[in-house]
Amino acid sequence: MPATLDELVAIYEDLHRHPELGRQEHRTAGIVADHLRTLGYDVTSGVGGTGVVGTLARGEGPTVLLRADMDALPVREDTGLPYASTATATTADGETVPVMHACGHDVHTTCLIGAAAGLAADTGWRGRLLVVFQPDEEGGGGAQAMVDDGLFERFGTPDVVLGQHVAPVPVGVLGVRSGPAFAASDALRITVHGAGGHGSRPETTVDPVVLGASVVQRLQTVVSREVAAAETVVVTVGSFHAGTAANVIPDRAVLGLSIRTTDPDVRTRVLAAVERIVRGEAIAAGAPREPELEVLNSFPAVVNDPVACDRVRASFAEEGRWLVVDPGPVTGSEDVGVLAEAAGAPCAYWLLGGADPALFASATSVDQIRRVVDGLPSNHSPRFAPLAGPTLESGVAALVSAARSWLA
Ligand code: ZN
Ligand code: ZN
Repeated sequence: MPATLDELVAIYEDLHRHPELGRQEHRTAGIVADHLRTLGYDVTSGVGGTGVVGTLARGEGPTVLLRADMDALPVREDTGLPYASTATATTADGETVPVMHACGHDVHTTCLIGAAAGLAADTGWRGRLLVVFQPDEEGGGGAQAMVDDGLFERFGTPDVVLGQHVAPVPVGVLGVRSGPAFAASDALRITVHGAGGHGSRPETTVDPVVLGASVVQRLQTVVSREVAAAETVVVTVGSFHAGTAANVIPDRAVLGLSIRTTDPDVRTRVLAAVERIVRGEAIAAGAPREPELEVLNSFPAVVNDPVACDRVRASFAEEGRWLVVDPGPVTGSEDVGVLAEAAGAPCAYWLLGGADPALFASATSVDQIRRVVDGLPSNHSPRFAPLAGPTLESGVAALVSAARSWLA
């Protein structure tokens, strides 16, 4: 039973060393299920694929859902940590890729195991605890898959959904924001078609590399020219694949886009602008076929409930161990909102500081702190490396504190 911080750190380092891509979290789910069983939880595996649900009932009282995600990313780790990942995995497309817990979901999983242990050992509460370890947050479908697999019908509807995401702000800081807290996310795959040929005779071809490059350039004007400065929008082209050789003009280019918005109307406008630009550039290039736009995944903004946030903030303040701040709207996205929306329950989802406070020793103003944060490897970076022990300690305590403010 993971009662001590050393034991939790050992679990974390093991999970970090053995990351698994979304929907492939078999080993991780097995470790989670074993710990929960040892702790006395009723455990169900295979919920929504690789999801794990643990329940612990202690008489009459509210039902609290604590959520963690378990999946890693196709990133080659470059942290130099002794427990760095060298793992690879095969994607759904059959490609072999390096894998790393570059978003810190190993922190979330370990903290929830720790909180499950803490709450199991604490006999002073009444109610029902649901600990939910979900698959495939990065792919965007993990929470929905658990809901579709009857999460709430089978395990009960929670009165609140609680969770946290580790971020490169100092350990000891928690970021709680009421209202829209994390952006809506849309991932698109765009295929533009050209007409391939010999690299020496471009006049006989329609070059999809040039067409794709024009699309990438023109997409930059969506945020800078079509959206008001006060709106929060990000349009990122994260992948661009075309061609196999220097002297061959290929016949297509495939772009991967990530779009983040906080306002539903702005989201509609931005998606329409992206489509207009892609189709327009294809016409301008004389493409022989219409481009294809596919939605890979799409999930709504996380809207934190103000009353639930007040309660969580009060609970954190009572413990006196954290600096609780409002981080402003975050352009990162999360599918935890899918759980809350499907349950019809309020959501409180906060940021957990995971960076070494020593890095911030010389920062004396908010602006200087912000500059240090901007200089640190962010989530999804190959060098993202939370300070394990203190982050886990803080994250476990935050989950327990928040859960206990409902479980009287
Ligand atoms: Zn992520
Ligand atoms: Zn994440």
